Amino acid sequence: MRLMKTMTCNQLGGPCEFVLHGNTADEVIKAQDKHLKEVVAAGDKAHKVALKEMKGRWKHPISGMAWYRTAKRDFAALPND
Ligand SMILES: [Zn+2]
Repeated sequence: MRLMKTMTCNQLGGPCEFVLHGNTADEVIKAQDKHLKEVVAAGDKAHKVALKEMKGRWKHPISGMAWYRTAKRDFAALPND
């Protein structure tokens, strides 16, 4: 059995309440990355900043790491679905 948890786009720095499911923090972060790319590709402007920040995190591992740690801690604190 896989234990799934739920986070929203908003909890990961995005502008909407899109629901992301994942077994690990990395999975929800990956789902968020995909969500950001999809909505921006579809013409959404509100997600552009969040997508830019997400891309910047991979380019700047030190500053991105603080965000990543926070996301992981938030994920760990969540109850299972
Ligand atoms: Zn969103």
